[in-house]
Amino acid sequence: MYKINNSGWIEVITGPMYSGKSEELIRRIRRVKIAKKKVKVFKPLIDDRYSNDNVVSHSGDSIEAIPVDRPQELISRLEDDPEVVAIDEIQFFSEDIVPICEHLADKGLRVIVAGLDRDFRNEPFTPVPELLARAEYIEKLHAICLQCGDPATRTQRLIDGEPASYNDPVIMVGASENYEARCRSCHDVKDKPKGDIYE
Ligand code: ADP
Ligand code: ZN
Repeated sequence: MYKINNSGWIEVITGPMYSGKSEELIRRIRRVKIAKKKVKVFKPLIDDRYSNDNVVSHSGDSIEAIPVDRPQELISRLEDDPEVVAIDEIQFFSEDIVPICEHLADKGLRVIVAGLDRDFRNEPFTPVPELLARAEYIEKLHAICLQCGDPATRTQRLIDGEPASYNDPVIMVGASENYEARCRSCHDVKDKPKGDIYE
């Protein structure tokens, strides 16, 4: 897709849930494979929403991935010297993933990461902001707002059909809440602190 002479680089695919991040990551990985380049695909162990050893999109597309528990584990899984490293659901890793991505890009690898830019409260989702600042390439994708049909840039968390509270934990994988894509004006967070000077 991109080629910056002989150095590596970082690309970030981001946006809300259902915006097609996993689909786009899978598309890029397939093209790397067509080019007969070696690619290693990783995902955090925490994300078991569909399958433990695949990156799976909401449209059912999937590609094999290695689940890793901690960012450091990723380094020890690069024994066969890949040219490309892809990581899905990057928001579930700690900030330690940032120097690892930088290190791999410094070594000449193409590093493709996909993940949520913001959590359900609309707050930046660590470590994605840091990666956005450091990336050579960024693609922000939009979903479709389930309320009004506009482009959706946010992830709405619903508990029994009602907007979740700002005070809920950010990561609740496997809990019985659900999520939908929403636009700026339809997105709703209960108990959001009123820090805005215009409110
Ligand atoms: P992400 O990784 O960003 O959560 P996926 O790649 O897993 O997104 O899924 C994208 C697919 O989800 C779309 O191609 C479409 O088939 C489906 N989809 C379901 N709900 C929506 C929505 N509200 N807006 C856009 N796509 C949606
Ligand atoms: Zn809307």
